[in-house]
Amino acid sequence: MLDVIKLLPDSVANQIAAGEVIQRPASAVKELMENALDAGATQIDLVVKDAGKALIMVVDNGCGMSETDARLCFERHATSKISKAEDLFAIRTMGFRGEALASIAAIAQVELKTRRKEDEVGVKIVIEGSVVKEQSLVPMQPGTSFTVKNLFFNVPARRNFLKSPQAEMRHIVEEFTRVTLMNPEVGFTLTSDGKELYHLYSGNLKQRIMGLFGSHYDQKLLPVNQDTDRVRINGYIVKPEYAKKTRGEQYFFVNKRFIKHPYLHHAIENAFMEMIPQDSIPGYFINIEVDPADIDVNIHPTKTEVNFLDVKLVYAILHAAVRKAIGQHNLAPTIDFSETADMNADFGAAAKMSQPLVMPDIPINEQYNPFRTSSNTAPSPKWNDFPQHRDKPSGDWRQLYGERTDINNGAEAEKQEEMPANSQYLQVNQTYIVTTVKSGLLLIDQHLAHTRILFEKFLKELENHSGASQQELFPQAWSLNMNDASLLKELLPELENLGFVLEQANPTTFMINGTPADSSGHDAVELLERILDNHKLNRSDLQLDRKLGIAKTLSAQLAIKAQTRLSEAEMQNLVDQLFACNVAEVAPNGKKIYVIVNMDEIVSKFN
Ligand code: ADP
Ligand code: MG
Repeated sequence: MLDVIKLLPDSVANQIAAGEVIQRPASAVKELMENALDAGATQIDLVVKDAGKALIMVVDNGCGMSETDARLCFERHATSKISKAEDLFAIRTMGFRGEALASIAAIAQVELKTRRKEDEVGVKIVIEGSVVKEQSLVPMQPGTSFTVKNLFFNVPARRNFLKSPQAEMRHIVEEFTRVTLMNPEVGFTLTSDGKELYHLYSGNLKQRIMGLFGSHYDQKLLPVNQDTDRVRINGYIVKPEYAKKTRGEQYFFVNKRFIKHPYLHHAIENAFMEMIPQDSIPGYFINIEVDPADIDVNIHPTKTEVNFLDVKLVYAILHAAVRKAIGQHNLAPTIDFSETADMNADFGAAAKMSQPLVMPDIPINEQYNPFRTSSNTAPSPKWNDFPQHRDKPSGDWRQLYGERTDINNGAEAEKQEEMPANSQYLQVNQTYIVTTVKSGLLLIDQHLAHTRILFEKFLKELENHSGASQQELFPQAWSLNMNDASLLKELLPELENLGFVLEQANPTTFMINGTPADSSGHDAVELLERILDNHKLNRSDLQLDRKLGIAKTLSAQLAIKAQTRLSEAEMQNLVDQLFACNVAEVAPNGKKIYVIVNMDEIVSKFN
């Protein structure tokens, strides 16, 4: 019987492999740039024409190749980066399978010029559809240049499959961004159809982000740094007030390799939670450094996935690091991050760590308001002080909506003039507070506004252990089941900080001797049951979430409800307190607290 199994000729095998590795011009760009980085280049220039379809050229000043290596590098599985299977688990370089150049050479016309420092001249090799067409010696500077012309020239199906030049160019810019972000010490340029799109100088990560996204990012970034012995996190997040509604500034890297990781994205989203509107997406540029043995990257060359051995640990550390970054910048309500040291207890794997996580204490400027442009040091009024009618509204928040140039122009008299003469507060449907501001009409959801005010107040109390308590004349006995009773015991310190005074009478019964001052008129047992229920629902790995959770539940419970009549003084007090909050725009549940109907909109309604 004849043999039926034949080995595919290399050229065909390469073409098949190429289909996997090189899906579009941007894939070739990525592979060539990563090779240049692996070669230790300090300057890498990328030139493309017709979104990479006509030409992709990458020139580097890296280590170069010998004549033999120049020839060998186009062979499949030719790589200088690993030699045995175990090496796969200790990968530090970008490429490691020795497939990229063989693939590119299989489906394009490639010219390689390369020279090592120690050599007098360089080598030039021209290869087309895996066939070497020319090899010669050329005078050149040390380094390497790859010129890739007519990608997919022999794979028309693939070529036709490509998207519009604009779309393909976006892919190239995206790959360029990913590669350049994590290598800020290397200089890069990107030139497209003769036009230089990026000129990135060697610098630090912040400068690189500014080089890529614009110098105004200087103001927008907060550093994130966290070192533990298993995971090191560093990079930047975009300040909450600059969060965008569209995707595009979410960059995770693991050991400098770009990845997409919805679970870790959630860690950041969660850390931003009560700081940004529900429909906004936090921006970040974060590198996660782990021992290569703790991850599995050997999946697919084009996939941006990484499996962590202990993803929960990474989640917890990342979440805490971002919370800390926000807190340090005084944007977040006060949270005691030193408590996250207890995080170890919640993670089996974390216990393996030789050192406990230590989160530094964070000094908080309680007056900071990201939405306020001038510095304001007035202490935030207490809802408790209510009703404390003031002769004139504090007014300063109004400037927010006035001409930007008016801000800081000082004199009290002028301020008064800026304010509408007929300043007053109305209620619509006993649910929304309406008032006028310079730019138009301000509509505030009274329940959400009060929720935000109480939320920030409770977080502060949790932090300072300062919740005022009112004593119950007739202490209530509250019976729970065993499970709930033990959960409640976990929460006791927080509840006491808020003003609850609870005393355990027997394993399943607690005496409620005192309740928070803000809670008069509410049933204490019902409040506590709510807190316990939500705590069970959201039981999270993180202690700091516990405080947020309690503050959220309690503020939502105690805030004035919709359909509640308010006096003008009450409305005024509420509005003033809202704009004294750290975040006045969004409620803890992410909902918008107020809207402004500006003059143009009002005018247009009459057309
Ligand atoms: P890999 O990067 O996975 O090793 P490639 O096919 O991308 O596989 O590259 C094959 C080999 O060619 C590399 O291992 C490296 O030795 C060499 N090489 C590729 N590009 C360069 C370059 N710009 N400078 C120096 N050597 C290079
Ligand atoms: Mg490579």
